[in-house]
Amino acid sequence: MELKTIMIEREQIEMDVVFVGAGPANLAAALHLKNEIRKHDELVDKGYKSGKKIGDIEIGIVEKGPFVGAHIMSGAVMDPIAIRELMPDFLAQGCPVDSVVTEDEAWYMTAARAIKAPITPPPLKNKGKYIVSLSKICEWLGQKCEEAGINIFPEFPASEVLYGDNDAVIGIRTGDKGIGKDGKPKENFEPGVDLLAKVTVLGEGSRGSLTKQLTARLGLNEGKEPQVFSVGIKELWELPEGNFDEGRVVHTLGFPSDTYTYGGAWLYGLKNNVLSIGYVTGLDYLDPLIDPHSEFQKFKTHPKIAAILKGGKMIKYGAKTMNMGGYYTMPRLYAAGVLLVGDCASFLNGQRIKGIHMAMKSGMLASEVIVEAFAHEDFSEKHLSHFEEKVNLSWIYDELFAVRNFHASFQKGRWPALINSGLQYLTGGMAWGFMPHEYHIAGHERMVTLDSDGRNLGDNTVNVDRHRYDELKFDKELTFDKITDVYHAAVSHNEDQPSHLHVLDTEICATRCAEEYGNPCQRFCPAAVYEMEQNDKTGRKELKVNFSNCVHCKTCDIADPYQLINWVTPEGGGGPNYNGM
Ligand SMILES: Cc1cc2nc3c(=O)[nH]c(=O)nc-3n(C[C@H](O)[C@H](O)[C@H](O)COP(=O)(O)OP(=O)(O)OC[C@H]3O[C@@H](n4cnc5c(N)ncnc54)[C@H](O)[C@@H]3O)c2cc1C
Repeated sequence: MELKTIMIEREQIEMDVVFVGAGPANLAAALHLKNEIRKHDELVDKGYKSGKKIGDIEIGIVEKGPFVGAHIMSGAVMDPIAIRELMPDFLAQGCPVDSVVTEDEAWYMTAARAIKAPITPPPLKNKGKYIVSLSKICEWLGQKCEEAGINIFPEFPASEVLYGDNDAVIGIRTGDKGIGKDGKPKENFEPGVDLLAKVTVLGEGSRGSLTKQLTARLGLNEGKEPQVFSVGIKELWELPEGNFDEGRVVHTLGFPSDTYTYGGAWLYGLKNNVLSIGYVTGLDYLDPLIDPHSEFQKFKTHPKIAAILKGGKMIKYGAKTMNMGGYYTMPRLYAAGVLLVGDCASFLNGQRIKGIHMAMKSGMLASEVIVEAFAHEDFSEKHLSHFEEKVNLSWIYDELFAVRNFHASFQKGRWPALINSGLQYLTGGMAWGFMPHEYHIAGHERMVTLDSDGRNLGDNTVNVDRHRYDELKFDKELTFDKITDVYHAAVSHNEDQPSHLHVLDTEICATRCAEEYGNPCQRFCPAAVYEMEQNDKTGRKELKVNFSNCVHCKTCDIADPYQLINWVTPEGGGGPNYNGM
């Protein structure tokens, strides 16, 4: 019998606060919540604070990965400003940072040369900050949470938001386990549970699947600019001694991106001659023939980069999207019973490509609001709206507001964007007065069709480039095809389950999309999930979805020009293994 047609009895577990996603935002939030409750109760005891004592409340974090950190992928250089506020002695407590940044460089890449900027642009200055594996940091923060009595539930994807009266959020439902690919329950079927909470905090990272549901239902993005995203493709390499020093940080702009595509790379030197190297491509590119994975592979063929990688070995691969829009694309951060933190609420500085510190700080501010909500037993929208005020009074506002025009200006092309960024920096963000407000345009609305005359961007017409990757070969030493790379992401999904990538109308894929865009899903997905396969019966190419390759980057949900792909959580525990990434 189809699952839809049977009544499922679900266990209900009453908690007080449920955090969705064990990323830096929610882990910092949960720890801070514990600390702030203790402080609050002490002050109430001493008569210094009004409100009621809170005591031991039930706090849970659900995570879709098999362990905390398994689905965490980042660069990463971490600005320690937030972790220091959370835990001033984080180093003494054993926080597993890898290295301290000792050298910063910015390179402009032409096809043959890497031109080093004489002065590193201030937003890219990182000396004294920490190079980390964010996956390891999260694993460690998860242990700290457990020591503090916070319940962590790995392999528990939150699949639905639960609503009460007047659309107040009352918790989440976790995904069912043991459903076969035919949609029927198998012998090991276990229904998901309903975790009920007075406050639910969504910290799902970029393009969160519940965040998307909630935003649509409650209109959290009304009056806001559309969100824009990039995808970062990363490899970890083991290098011969001396190829790239520990603590060295390089950011690049230019080759191989064209001047109308937002793109650039990072190279971070870790301990033991390990290099984190990756390439970021804006998912608001115009040419449907762009393939972000190929952009990265092409980047590695640049003579300067190939020389660094020479003699090395690629050991890990990953891909993930990030929110680039910043301040003007931030959704409403609250509604009755719910708060949004971290990347899923657009807390990322696109100019610095840094979000870890903002994710943590936004989580901590959310927790402070939650403490007051418990103290006054008020979980209403009005009370939780204090979160937005707190954000706007914090350093998050100062940092995000100053760069509010950064990504939108790149939608006009690289050179206007660089002028804009320079002016923004020199005037502390006040260049707004001189520069027109560049409204963000959602990436999927920007792609040009294959047969069009291109898109006119003032001085230039941007068109498709059919020869972009003519010279790119995958030699499996320096450059890798997607399947080889995905193998290094250690992805695993139970294949006997329904696909978690819902394509709402596959007829459009075989007809309109094939003609208009040449099925760009085959290119924008960095994990070879989407394939157009010849169907001999119908005599045409039709979509095949290899969902078990999926690395949970969410690119497809974002970049599809028809917005037909809906990424939902697969069975708990499935996905990449980014341990150490
Ligand atoms: C390629 C790349 C490079 C970056 N480099 C840097 C850098 O150098 N420095 C920097 O500061 N920032 C960097 N960032 C940004 C930084 O990684 C993010 O800002 C930060 O990780 C956001 O934290 P978060 O907690 O909001 O979300 P995430 O880190 O994405 O964590 C979200 C967690 O929630 C889980 N989850 C999601 N949905 C569900 C669900 N429905 N149910 C259960 N669990 C769920 C996920 O599995 C994941 O574990 C980079 C990002 C990328 C993609």
